[in-house]
Amino acid sequence: MQVPHLNTIVIVGGGTAGWMTATALATALRGRYRIRLVESDEIGIVGVGEATIPMIQRFNTVAGIEEAEFLKATNGTFKLGVEFVNWGRRGDRYMHGFGRLGQDLWMVGFEQYWHKMRALGKARDLADYSITRAAARANKFMLPRTDLGNSPLAEITYAYHFDAGLYARHLRKLSESRGVERIEGKIVRATQRVHDGHVDAVVMENGDRIEGDLFIDCSGFRGLLIEQTLATGYEDWSHWLPCDRALAVPCESVPVLTPYTRATAHQAGWQWRIPLQNRIGNGHVYCSRYISDDEAAHVLLSNLDGKPLGDPRPIRFTTGMRKKAWEKNVVAIGLSSGFLEPIESTSIHMIQDAIQRLLDYFPDQGFSQPDVDAFNRLSRFHYERTRDFIILHYYANQRDDAEFWRACAHMEIPAALREKIDLFRTHGRLRRVDSELFTEVGWQQVLVGQNIHPQAYHPLVDVQSEEGIQEYMDSVADVIRQCVDYMPDHAAFIAEYCKA
Ligand code: FAD
Repeated sequence: MQVPHLNTIVIVGGGTAGWMTATALATALRGRYRIRLVESDEIGIVGVGEATIPMIQRFNTVAGIEEAEFLKATNGTFKLGVEFVNWGRRGDRYMHGFGRLGQDLWMVGFEQYWHKMRALGKARDLADYSITRAAARANKFMLPRTDLGNSPLAEITYAYHFDAGLYARHLRKLSESRGVERIEGKIVRATQRVHDGHVDAVVMENGDRIEGDLFIDCSGFRGLLIEQTLATGYEDWSHWLPCDRALAVPCESVPVLTPYTRATAHQAGWQWRIPLQNRIGNGHVYCSRYISDDEAAHVLLSNLDGKPLGDPRPIRFTTGMRKKAWEKNVVAIGLSSGFLEPIESTSIHMIQDAIQRLLDYFPDQGFSQPDVDAFNRLSRFHYERTRDFIILHYYANQRDDAEFWRACAHMEIPAALREKIDLFRTHGRLRRVDSELFTEVGWQQVLVGQNIHPQAYHPLVDVQSEEGIQEYMDSVADVIRQCVDYMPDHAAFIAEYCKA
């Protein structure tokens, strides 16, 4: 029997999570539901979160966001991957590039031929076989030319860097044009129905009650509804990911506009560098047990490309996830649902993923428990698999110059991650489980980039002759080099693209 539909959806919070949710719901629900968003100018937003992964393109496309207009509105740039500096050992440098590696031709994946030739000392750097890595190294960018068949130029996989505050503003404009009502002010508490504990309203400082059937908690770390009202609990993962603070500061830009994020490991954490059109976003993520706030600020400010634009802004966090992202009629999206540090720029994607899941399990007035349980199970799956990939970056280090890194290299890691590393170590095999976010290519690049190589390669590699493999790999690298030569400079491409 059909249960009555919801009438009013209240989104609590207007950061990236709140406005992405509002835009997506306003687009998908086509005006059939009343959508209200409450945000407080006084509290503000976390205001970091400027690097993304390629799936953001899908969000923008579905939301009807025009790319050049969006880049202009947010001072955005293109991103082809993340460069990791000092992670395996001090002085090491590798790129985790988007998209594929090499060109599959025979029985097993390209990487398996690479493992054999590397062991023989006959392979080039992995970056020579990937269009995104090679282009990033040369500061080149262009949109994929899908008309070029199987040319690497048809496969340029990319994401964006953007100003988080301007992105939220851009989404707000879109949402309001699609009927979302914005309410400004501070929520002081929530009220609950007596018979089942569902939240029925949030109460504003001025006494107004904002009532609703479904509440989406996008209130950031505080988790105003999911934690402060419903007390669902938080699973702390800081024994695996011990960094607990960040300092963020933008600086003046430099003439070269790099099409990638950089993550540089320091003595007790790491520093991000995110190039925008008008400035560079920087932040030092660190573990307060190993470095003081003053030292952390000194490290950050000593490693900027240009003059800082203001003082470093402190942010505190505990890595982990909310035990239930959906409880009763409250769904937590964004920082209220958990936090994984931004080494692989995953948080905005987690928001997008949660919105899609909410649409998949969209409730009626019945709020069916099996749907809620399925939503929570899937949230946990994605959080845990992404967490393991991030732990890998810390665990797979051979740095003996700092206590922090030695502790990371000796930690007890989750069983699923142990299994993955062991599988890779024997024959270079990787297995992507279901729809986990990072592909075999992503894992491969980080493992190899941090000096973990398999003891042996796939036996079927030897079906091909060594000369044949060499010829094949050289031809892939040659084609990629020619393609990169053809590509325009990243800054020149943006200037032209955003000109109109
Ligand atoms: P917030 O931005 O904190 O928004 C919370 C909203 O709730 C605000 O509008 C606030 O006004 C409102 N609110 C709260 N309490 C009340 C109240 N009582 N009454 C009314 N309104 C209220 N993600 C990436 O994908 N890439 C990155 O590179 C990246 N870097 C990061 C670096 C750091 C150091 C951190 C901490 C996070 C980073 N993230 C990154 C994560 C990203 O910043 C967040 O996922 C994203 O900004 C979403 O935040 P949010 O909207 O959940 O919370």
